[in-house]
Amino acid sequence: MDSQLQSVYDAVLRRNPGEAEFHQAVREVFESLEPVLRRKPEYVEAAVLERICEPERQIVFRVPWVDDDGHVRINRGFRVEFNSALGPFKGGLRFHPSVYLGIVKFLGFEQIFKNSLTGMPIGGGKGGSDFDPRGKSDGEIMRFCQSFMTELYRHIGEYTDVPAGDIGVGGREIGYLFGQYKRITNRYESGVLTGKGLTWGGSLVRTEATGYGTVMFADRMLATKSQGLEGRRVTVSGSGNVAIFAIAKAQQLGADVIAFSDSSGYVVDEAGIDLDLLRQVKEIERGRVADYVDRRPGARLVKDGSIWDVPTDVALPCATQNELDETQAKRLVANGVVAIAEGANMPTTPQAVALLQDAGVLFAPGKAANAGGVATSALEMQQNASRDSWTFDHTEERLLQIMTGIHDQCLATADEYGTPGNYVAGANIAGFTKVADAMIALGV
Ligand code: GLU
Repeated sequence: MDSQLQSVYDAVLRRNPGEAEFHQAVREVFESLEPVLRRKPEYVEAAVLERICEPERQIVFRVPWVDDDGHVRINRGFRVEFNSALGPFKGGLRFHPSVYLGIVKFLGFEQIFKNSLTGMPIGGGKGGSDFDPRGKSDGEIMRFCQSFMTELYRHIGEYTDVPAGDIGVGGREIGYLFGQYKRITNRYESGVLTGKGLTWGGSLVRTEATGYGTVMFADRMLATKSQGLEGRRVTVSGSGNVAIFAIAKAQQLGADVIAFSDSSGYVVDEAGIDLDLLRQVKEIERGRVADYVDRRPGARLVKDGSIWDVPTDVALPCATQNELDETQAKRLVANGVVAIAEGANMPTTPQAVALLQDAGVLFAPGKAANAGGVATSALEMQQNASRDSWTFDHTEERLLQIMTGIHDQCLATADEYGTPGNYVAGANIAGFTKVADAMIALGV
């Protein structure tokens, strides 16, 4: 990093103590920006770097709720409205015990550039809570979501801030949140949340979009080397919404998907993942990966170690941040990995990314490769605004166009700034310059 970037980064460290994930996300973007600042001194003059690292608004609130035993419980809720230069704040809500302000800020910061890359008119934001949905009854989830929205409703709106899901927040939670918003405001404002159910304002393909989009991106990268997914070994970490639909799309494109995981371990199924069984276990029963192995002869569960020990051609980290480190990256390279596309947000550590790029592995950063989810959220907003609903095929076609567009834009930008083939630099620069230009146009 040059001295200009370093001094802004140092100020970010000082102003946001103890927020390691946020620091990591800022650093990762800044490391791509040196050639940009050389070409665009106006960014420095307008203090765009300083401004872009400071969220426009940060909301932290108490979420009281009553558990099934009648005890009052308290969690902390967050919404970080990071940047609205390109459109209303847009980004998911994460319910997970690891959530604190630093996680929400890292995710919100990434979301600014991801949303910019989609080409859709959406700014960046993120929210969530340290609430742990694991083991909670349906009634507890509902009461928690209602309490969360009882505070959040005053901050959001179709033209202001449009939340969606992330880890721990799926269709069920969006339903309870939307119901409470409607109850409080007396308005059926479909465009206030995305990821809605199909009978109440949702879009076809939204559920599939993040995982599908990640595989579409991987497929585009392989195509630049005249290769494809057909007959390739693929491993997918995670077993949530992103992982499930990454597996589905990879299988559609003829890949052999042989491993997935959750926090209790990973499963190797050399016969190819039985997607119906996986969905039954994870989506319907809300169970663990062991429940899959119990019903699938030939599959084995590995409780210790890492899914990245499994030899594979294409690795799709779709679980959570910093899940693939340098040691694991080395193992993947030694085992001949060809391409990696991040379905999760920042799953690969910076050291691992550097190692993979040096080894010549095709590497797609999350802000490009997993942008299909939020892009389809923008398509949902578009359908809500025009009171229309599109077919599955039409919506999937739009998703494919958007993912292909992001891929090509990353490559073209990487070329333009002297780092050919570097998708990380391409995504950061293309995402950043568009937001920076809009910020300058809109004034201080
Ligand atoms: N949470 C998703 C993401 O990380 C989707 C956000 C949205 O649809 O607004 O991009």
